[in-house]
Amino acid sequence: MAAAKSGFKFNLAIGIYVLCAAIVVGFAGSNFYVLSTAGDVANKVQHEAEANLVAKEVQLELQDLADDQSDISYWDESVYAFYRDDIDMDFVEEEIVDGSWDEMDLEHVIVVDEEGRPEVTVYRDQLMDPNDGLANIVANFDLIQRARTKYFANRKVRGKGFVTIGDPVWSKTSIYAADYRIVEGQLGMAVAQAIVPDILEVLPDGNPKVLFTFRPLNKFAFAQVRDQLGLSRFAIVEQSEASPELDQMVIGGLGNDKIVAVWQATKPSTNIWDQTIPFLAGLLGLIAVGLGFIGYRYSKIVTRIQISEERNRFMAEHDALTGLPNRLQFDNQLDDIIAKGELDRCAIICTDLDKFKAVNDTYGHQAGDAVIKTVANRIADIVGDKGMAARVGGDEFIILLRNGLDEDSVMMLCDSIIESVCEEVVFDNGSAAVGASIGVAWWPDDALTAKTVIRSADQALYRAKELGRGQTVRAAAPNDHPDRRNTIDRRKFV
Ligand code: GH3
Ligand code: MG
Repeated sequence: MAAAKSGFKFNLAIGIYVLCAAIVVGFAGSNFYVLSTAGDVANKVQHEAEANLVAKEVQLELQDLADDQSDISYWDESVYAFYRDDIDMDFVEEEIVDGSWDEMDLEHVIVVDEEGRPEVTVYRDQLMDPNDGLANIVANFDLIQRARTKYFANRKVRGKGFVTIGDPVWSKTSIYAADYRIVEGQLGMAVAQAIVPDILEVLPDGNPKVLFTFRPLNKFAFAQVRDQLGLSRFAIVEQSEASPELDQMVIGGLGNDKIVAVWQATKPSTNIWDQTIPFLAGLLGLIAVGLGFIGYRYSKIVTRIQISEERNRFMAEHDALTGLPNRLQFDNQLDDIIAKGELDRCAIICTDLDKFKAVNDTYGHQAGDAVIKTVANRIADIVGDKGMAARVGGDEFIILLRNGLDEDSVMMLCDSIIESVCEEVVFDNGSAAVGASIGVAWWPDDALTAKTVIRSADQALYRAKELGRGQTVRAAAPNDHPDRRNTIDRRKFV
């Protein structure tokens, strides 16, 4: 039997499985991509919404402090007490020292004069040396400046002086400056606002006096805000202390001392995944099972078709009884040798069993088949890798010899064939012995084409039969062949 064609053979069944798996993976991948993109967008939108809320809330807190301290900074009495040659210290005691810490949590209250120097400094409920407030004022002078600028931008003339245009805290033309600050190591809110009249008084031209207040954040601060916002782990901390796993937003501070609001971000993506994963997993499972089933069925069909195609291909080129190459394969190989010039020379050996019909007649067709099969194996063994043996008729074989092509070797090979065919063949209901006659022709010595070289070998075989069978006859070169040999080499099988 001819060796199976070597080389890579695409396995369609595996290809179908791979395709099905690729569809499942592709489907899963595209869904994963869509969901994670949707999740990212939702997270971003949610973060922006939460950041807006936080921004609004932290501003409101500052505004509340500004509102608290405007009890003093937006009041005719204050203007009267502070804008005079000697500050009214009774007023300071009564209105600032006695209430600002206990009632309003104002830890630092400092009145800054027109030149930017602290004029009154109150720490908690104690009146201090004004200069104790100097460091604070220097550190937060940007707020004093902003408060002055705002005052100038929002004042109007009344009588012999100036008043503010609207409410210093709640109107659009507010004049306070506020920020989250670290004061003496404490985190809190700082507000600066010019001391302005509310009803009757007016201010002289020039820099106003500014009230600076600081309210530290305590652990209860923002608890309400946190609850209102529904944000877990909400806190206001120094940026350097903010936990990296929390969302954060800068809300104030100076230079490297940034102050941030942090909170645990709500992640809608978690919801998206939680809600869609079971559905997706189910769908994927269904698709995988469906495609697996389709793939299984198709690969079975395809495998069957492939096997049947392979068998057909084999049958087309082989003899069904012996498995030897058939005439078609033999012709193709000889054509390749001659047409493509694969070899310089080759020998064609035609063999026909002698008196084979008698086996059929005596032992039946099945015994005849067994003899043909046995003889075919023997011939194929003898030819081996020197060439190819094909069955081309009932009891007829043809051999194409590629190697070992010297005359003597070929004749010896023919002798071996005759000898081995002659050996007794045992089959189910007996045994028989047949003989063989052989005709040999050479290409291109005896004929130039495939057809004529076969015909020459056939004619030589015919002559071997005529001469009494059981022998090898060498074809004679035709008269017009350039390499003509006019002798018939006749070798009797002994
Ligand atoms: P010769 O010596 O002249 O070759 O005579 P032979 O008896 O061998 O007969 P011949 O070669 O003229 O004919 C071959 C016979 O082989 C003809 C047919 O009955 C028989 N035959 C052909 N094909 C098969 C086959 O596949 N199986 C069997 N059992 N017999 C076959
Ligand atoms: Mg015969």
